[in-house]
Amino acid sequence: MTVAISDRMQHIPFSGIRKIFEEIILREKRGEPVIHLEIGRPDFDTPLNIKREAQRALEEGLVHYTSNYGLLELREAVAHKFLHDNGLKYSPDNEIIITVGANEAVFMAMMALLNPGDQVLVPSPCWTHYYQCARFCGATPIPVPLKRENRFIPRASDFKPYLGPKTKMLVINTPHNPTGAVFERSALEELADFVKANDLLALSDEIYEKLIYNGKEHVSFASLDGMWDRTITINGMSKIYAMTGWRLGYVAAPKAITEAMIKIHQYTTVCAATFAQYGGIEALKNGRQAGQEMTREFDRRRQLVTKRLRAMPGIELVEPNGAFYVLPYIGGLGMDSNAFTKFLLDRAGVAVVPGDAFGGFAENTFRLSYANSFEKLEDAMDRMEQALQKLGVSK
Ligand code: PLP
Repeated sequence: MTVAISDRMQHIPFSGIRKIFEEIILREKRGEPVIHLEIGRPDFDTPLNIKREAQRALEEGLVHYTSNYGLLELREAVAHKFLHDNGLKYSPDNEIIITVGANEAVFMAMMALLNPGDQVLVPSPCWTHYYQCARFCGATPIPVPLKRENRFIPRASDFKPYLGPKTKMLVINTPHNPTGAVFERSALEELADFVKANDLLALSDEIYEKLIYNGKEHVSFASLDGMWDRTITINGMSKIYAMTGWRLGYVAAPKAITEAMIKIHQYTTVCAATFAQYGGIEALKNGRQAGQEMTREFDRRRQLVTKRLRAMPGIELVEPNGAFYVLPYIGGLGMDSNAFTKFLLDRAGVAVVPGDAFGGFAENTFRLSYANSFEKLEDAMDRMEQALQKLGVSK
């Protein structure tokens, strides 16, 4: 029997990053060692106090559904965080929803706001989840180039050529995956004026908010003049508290938007796992120090890889200031991003992600994640250097 898959699914590709994962799995099965610099998750364990709270919840029988919005105590902790860290006032009663990761939050925001035919401006390269969620809604994602010459910081003038009568939303992700860029206040203010002038909505994904270096400042888009009403702010526990597997995130928006989003949550996931939510309360209340320690270690690794990559022939770099990624440019090597990724895997046993997996405007680049141990990163840098030297390219 041939199953008729929905038309909607015909437009959703299998994740590009997964292809490289499958290749890596095959090699490891053959016993070939691989250093994993393709990963988009912290290598640390979740801090013990957070685990203990989840364990306590289980032991005390706190095992049932919570409110669709999430535990009130967790929403209150999120509201407190928004106020103190971001200067944003959201009511825990009806302007915050606890989600199954930021992934679900992006899906809910787009489902609640986009009609078929609407267009969404997405600075690219990007985490392509935005593209696929827009497509689920029948909307069209429009990639807008993030330029290397602008250090991957978007300017309003970059968006203007892509604006049309059906443009409804603009996506902002800072600190940024895959470039590591941190969008500075002046650039965000310029985008806020653009959003206002064109009567758009903004989806601001701030999941890497705390992973920020070089004294850079994280600015929440909703805190800018006139943006609170127009912005859906998304964040979560995955990256800063090393909790990717807990599937815990949150979304905040004006009541009219959360009222639409909560219906999607109600009919799909109902609520985030209850014991995970108890861990989330502990993370927000007492996880700051552990988060800062992990960030310091990420920064040490960032400095190592940027220094080493800069010294390698054929590799150019824009300094990353946030998240745990760097997107080096390899235009001088005469290999496209897929060929280079394969070359690194074959000749150095190092896994990275080809720039092509990030939705456009990342030709001749690769994403390297430094969410691996300092020792492994040193080893990977040595292997890469040797492999490149054998190519005979000079600096
Ligand atoms: N937003 C960005 C920009 C990401 O890179 C990722 C994961 O890689 C997520 C959100 C996913 O977050 P979560 O684990 O909370 O679903």
